[in-house]
Amino acid sequence: MYDVIVIGSGPAGYVAAIRASQLGLKTACVEKSFHNDSPQLGGTCLNIGCIPSKALLDSSHRYADALHQFSDHGIKVQNPTIDIPKMMDRKNKIVAQLTGGISSLFKANNVTQILGTATIMGANTVEVTYEGKTETLETLNIVIASGSSPIDIPVAKVNHKNIVDSTGALEFQAVPKTLGIIGAGIIGLELGSVWARLGSKVTILEALDDFLPMADSKISKEVLKEFNKQGLNINLGCKVNAAKSNKKNVTVNYENNGSEFELNFEKLIVAVGRKPNTENLFSKSSGLSVDERGFIPVNNFCETKVKNIWAIGDVVRGPMLAHKASEEGIMVVERIAGNQVEMEYAHVPSVIYTHPEVAWVGQNEKDLSDAGLEFKTGSFPFAASGRALATGESTGFVKVIADKKTDTILGVHAFGPSAADIVQQGVVAMEFKASAEDLGLTIFSHPTVSEALHEAAMAVNEKAIHIGNIKK
Ligand code: FAD
Ligand code: NAD
Repeated sequence: MYDVIVIGSGPAGYVAAIRASQLGLKTACVEKSFHNDSPQLGGTCLNIGCIPSKALLDSSHRYADALHQFSDHGIKVQNPTIDIPKMMDRKNKIVAQLTGGISSLFKANNVTQILGTATIMGANTVEVTYEGKTETLETLNIVIASGSSPIDIPVAKVNHKNIVDSTGALEFQAVPKTLGIIGAGIIGLELGSVWARLGSKVTILEALDDFLPMADSKISKEVLKEFNKQGLNINLGCKVNAAKSNKKNVTVNYENNGSEFELNFEKLIVAVGRKPNTENLFSKSSGLSVDERGFIPVNNFCETKVKNIWAIGDVVRGPMLAHKASEEGIMVVERIAGNQVEMEYAHVPSVIYTHPEVAWVGQNEKDLSDAGLEFKTGSFPFAASGRALATGESTGFVKVIADKKTDTILGVHAFGPSAADIVQQGVVAMEFKASAEDLGLTIFSHPTVSEALHEAAMAVNEKAIHIGNIKK
């Protein structure tokens, strides 16, 4: 009898399993993906998501720098070239190192790794099937962390050759001359950036008329301008009617503003969102069910409607992000161990790892206006940051939003160099319920790009030093 069986070894599941074991709970983690008869640990994030995409973003960024930026610094490099198989090999080695690392962590923490597909039969029973053999396991608690998979659309069926999903787009062995992408979401922008930097002519077809509607609206506008400048060619309000694979390319037919268009691409990436992995996950008798979009309904503590069955990560509501998944994992097993841990969902940061990065935490001006709340804002452009100028990265700005009366920070939004790390400082400040004044009175090292956060916080109360404090 286990105390906890975790289903899935992505950032939700593996973190939950390790923490559960640290808390003295007898824990097993079941994973269905395999390699050489062993579980392939790490889920989407480590194998086909966060890590490989960031490896390619970093390689392609260095190449683009060599092509376009080095000369500004007086560095001469003649005709830089990129070796795609070597770049892919580097990415694969990083993935192997990290996924192997989880296996070592499981061993060090006494987490039992079980290979197979788990099915929940009841509140205390999990069946695990591998190569036709089924084993029945008994447990006091079940944590579902089965993650998500790409959504496919009937008009552009993925064939894993020239019409691919995000996984295929991490594995091209040559730079496609022309690349179409359906969806200007996070994957479309990150993977579009990778291939555009390497030389692809990229066209993105987005259904919505709004670009990045979840971000601060001024940031979305600047980002759209900058990415079009970088060659992403983002088309909004497009209805894709068909994508047909031919021998040589993919022909895409779409409508935009009442007109019909046809484009041919060497490769097409379908990046229109992800869906939860809940198919065949539980038997009827388990008492579990899913909502109309396939997610497992849970409360703020990730409890399902069946006592002692919990669900975390991409398989439940909320943003599909690795850090949100991991924090839910920790909260759940702490609660199983009797500790009253809660998670502050309002402080989950979001980052788009393009160059420059886009990042935010908390509420934006539209959220607050829609809720009828009074707020004040302060912004600071990187064009006025000494360090940003010294680095040659002065696009974008930082915005701090605070409660009009209490001055408590309600949101931090950034587009520019190290935006992810700058917003992370905002997350820490918000976690400690800091005011804009608190952040303004905090000492920031000079010269750093983080000083833009300091100045934006000071600008909230018209105390910025390096820009005019014009009332917005
Ligand atoms: P997953 O990572 O999907 O793991 C679920 C695991 O459960 C899988 O290993 C699966 O095989 C296993 N499983 C499923 N069903 C069963 C079953 N019945 N029995 C046994 N095992 C089962 N997020 C970020 O925060 N930052 C990023 O930079 C980022 N980049 C991304 C880039 C890409 C290209 C993609 C696709 C995603 C990215 N994400 C990123 C999102 C992130 O990968 C997910 O939010 C995260 O992996 C979710 O973790 P999870 O543990 O809930 O699910
Ligand atoms: P997404 O939800 O971010 O974007 C999908 C986009 O496709 C949306 O803009 C949507 O309007 C558009 N779309 C949907 N149907 C369409 C259609 N038929 N035609 C044209 N456009 C259409 O989803 P994604 O980019 O696939 O990424 C999935 C999830 O993975 C993200 O929501 C995110 O949570 C996670 N992720 C995170 C990161 C990160 O944290 N940096 C990176 C990659 C992925």
